[in-house]
Amino acid sequence: MIPFNKPSFVGNELTYIQDAIRFGHISGNGQYTKRCQSFFEARLNTAKCLLTTSCTDALEMCAILLDIQPGDEVIIPSYTFVSTANAFVLRGATIVFADSMVDHPNMDAAALESLITPRTRAIVVVHYAGIACDMYAIMALAARHQIFVVEDAAQGIESFHNGKALGTIGHLGAFSFHETKNIISGEGGLLIINDPRFVDRAEIIWEKGTNRASFFKGEVNKYGWVDVGSSFLPSDMTAAFLWAQLEKIDDIQQRRRHIWEFYFAGLYPLQREGLVTLPIIPDYASNNAHMFYLTVKDEATRDGLLKHLKDKGFLAVFHYLSLHASDFYKPKHDGRVLANSDRFSSTLIRLPFFLELEEDTLKQIIHEIAAFLHR
Ligand SMILES: *Cc1c(COP(=O)(O)O)cnc(C)c1O
Repeated sequence: MIPFNKPSFVGNELTYIQDAIRFGHISGNGQYTKRCQSFFEARLNTAKCLLTTSCTDALEMCAILLDIQPGDEVIIPSYTFVSTANAFVLRGATIVFADSMVDHPNMDAAALESLITPRTRAIVVVHYAGIACDMYAIMALAARHQIFVVEDAAQGIESFHNGKALGTIGHLGAFSFHETKNIISGEGGLLIINDPRFVDRAEIIWEKGTNRASFFKGEVNKYGWVDVGSSFLPSDMTAAFLWAQLEKIDDIQQRRRHIWEFYFAGLYPLQREGLVTLPIIPDYASNNAHMFYLTVKDEATRDGLLKHLKDKGFLAVFHYLSLHASDFYKPKHDGRVLANSDRFSSTLIRLPFFLELEEDTLKQIIHEIAAFLHR
């Protein structure tokens, strides 16, 4: 069976983990952690980056940094992973779910203004498949209403909105290095702090509510408990793994783009026949080849195609179930129908995507999709 995802070792992962162990510092904030953070601070040209144990944790830090309180409203797309919303629910926020666009799973910026109330504190955007949301519209709306913007850029590494890196446009941003993402460390994430007002407090929250980071920089002569916080730092062994991936980031991205282009070209004839809809990349967005998805006309076709591919040895998968319709949030949802999100829930398919996928395998997958849809 060709899996949907396969984590790839790209070179020096084990060497650097051994090195971290030999160096004698394997807890958080060691030499590899600092190297990775400096890498991102330079590459993203931003105030501060902090490695976290996951993107989920980075989003939880965002909710604490924005001081989200019970009753605050946060606008979040319904078509996303649970962590986008859960991080804010943990602080007591009321989630106001936004629908996707008709032709893209990203939130529909044009429909956001009607969701804003005096209690709205933040908009959390998700750049689905690494394709940017309409950030000019969203940032302008947020400025007009004096609310914060957090970018869940879990899938958005090495992608841009009008030339600006995803994760660096909102007040705060978050990447994921989960094994299903472009750059991986097993579990792992990054908090990207673009608004310098948040830097000092972020370091405290990161270090369990202590001013340990200031202590190590020699800014205070003892450290203690100064705020809320948690254990958000990854082990330096995780950072060592990540550093080996970052060293190869350009090669990884080149390979992923090749796979993406191969799928697109191979499936394009089916789009011309009206049998599938392929991803749209708006003018303002770039493509980081995070995933290859397509949509088909209805749920029965989607389920049939997934089964056909599985019977032939290829594991393709569907994606998010709308969060507003989840067991947990449905009783709390305000009842609005989010038709586009629901349609992506029932008609979207993600194809196998990992670095070792051979062209022959890609050809077979494309062939089997065509065979199923033509019969
Ligand atoms: C993967 C993902 C997350 C969670 O990332 P973790 O690092 O596994 O916590 C959150 N949001 C989106 C949109 C994701 O794709």
